Amino acid sequence: MSETFSGSRGLTLEQPLLFEQDSPGLTAVDLPEPAAFEDRLGGLARTTPPGLPGLSEPQVVRHYTRLSQKNFGIDSVFYPLGSCTMKHNPRLNERMARLPGFGDIHPFQPESTVQGALELIDTCAHWLKTLTGLPAIAMSPAAGAHGELCGLMAIRAALEDRGQPRKRVLVPESAHGTNPASAAACGYEVEAIPANARGRVDLGALKDRLDGEVAAFMLTNPNTCGLFEDEILDIAQAVHEAGAFFYCDGANFNAIVGRVRVADLGIDAMHINLHKTFSTPHGGGGPGAGPTVLSAELAPFAPLPMVVERNGRFHLIEHAAEAGDAKPFGRLKGYHGQFGVMVRALAYMMSMGSDGLRQASADAVLNANYLMARLKDVLTPSFEGPCMHEALFDDRFLKDTGVTTLDFAKALIDEGFHPMTMYFPLVVHGALLIEPTETESRQTLDQFIGSVRGLAAQAKAGAAESFKAAPRFTPRRRLDETTAARSPVLRWAAE
Ligand SMILES: *Cc1c(COP(=O)(O)O)cnc(C)c1O
Repeated sequence: MSETFSGSRGLTLEQPLLFEQDSPGLTAVDLPEPAAFEDRLGGLARTTPPGLPGLSEPQVVRHYTRLSQKNFGIDSVFYPLGSCTMKHNPRLNERMARLPGFGDIHPFQPESTVQGALELIDTCAHWLKTLTGLPAIAMSPAAGAHGELCGLMAIRAALEDRGQPRKRVLVPESAHGTNPASAAACGYEVEAIPANARGRVDLGALKDRLDGEVAAFMLTNPNTCGLFEDEILDIAQAVHEAGAFFYCDGANFNAIVGRVRVADLGIDAMHINLHKTFSTPHGGGGPGAGPTVLSAELAPFAPLPMVVERNGRFHLIEHAAEAGDAKPFGRLKGYHGQFGVMVRALAYMMSMGSDGLRQASADAVLNANYLMARLKDVLTPSFEGPCMHEALFDDRFLKDTGVTTLDFAKALIDEGFHPMTMYFPLVVHGALLIEPTETESRQTLDQFIGSVRGLAAQAKAGAAESFKAAPRFTPRRRLDETTAARSPVLRWAAE
């Protein structure tokens, strides 16, 4: 039985779906009857109602406002989801993206009317090339995973140009799932490289697997254990000696921006998740952007379109025939990329300045190490020593308590926090990956630490039952995620 007559709890109201609220014929506006008019639909006018619910304006406004209150969002709670970089998005960026000259233009407009937008793409590209030290960039990939595909397609094109397409891509065990998926989508066989006891790539194992059939090695640095790959120069050398390319997954770039130039690490290609590192809201699944920087050797194969400047005018090269000596591998995306995300990224970079970006990466690492230092006596850190921008723990601290990583994460929801990333990376058992990001204050971190320490003590004191019942205070409790994923019900149907 519900604890209230309405089923609501305080400000969290229980509400029917919009379709269940339907009052046929009700609309938010009263329009006058149309004057006599001539039907020009040629018999194509629909004969049945469109199947939309009849609703008043306040019903609609309340519905969406309440829905937004039922969600975790970075604007309302601490969101330490490891690897996802859920940080505060400065409102200035949003303001810039909504300027009519950026927000209201169309990709089919004549070049002469969008010179400023093309310049913005070019300037954003300039910043990203400068920050990474790599000479070329493809701006059109629409997300990190798309950037991986872009890098691998450029690598494939370069290898085919050499006359040796090669067959395999090597990927560390700790890699994000998109890495092997992108390699497979690009037609490569994928081989996993194990980690060493320090949570880094096992260099010996990598060398054993490198041969004349390896097209590329994909590495995330800092890796998904939150650790800097300190043998990266040896890795780059080994990869290049085998005639392969070195791809870097740049999703964790926020840990090293302004401190490490990617080119100095021997990297040939890297995508940058603008929505993570350079601050675009991305909790709901997009849009993001994954511009991909490329070495001089890969540059000629970069995809179309590209922005070039000639005599102070900006042009968009859309066809291989206009690309001079370059041999673009094709086109990855309609139009020119996720322009609105580029506006936000450039606004972020310019407002931070190079000193601000350097400070941000320092703060991201400092915050993660603060959490690590204050939690390592109650949770179990997976690896020794300091971390980079995220702190990785495993479930050894829950041994014999009957509480799982999942239960622990669910209990955090009742504490008002978005859970950390669970069960990833796969290289440790029952992973809890916490990424605080640089935008959180010490007060917020202390509040979170208080809850985590409290929960850890409760788990060890034998409160498994209470963990199994969490979350208790959410509008919905534990959902059957397996059934939801296997047989999703995507349409509302009248009973
Ligand atoms: C987020 C992430 C990706 C994928 O990026 P999307 O923009 O979500 O496609 C790849 N690798 C790592 C390590 C990530 O954190």
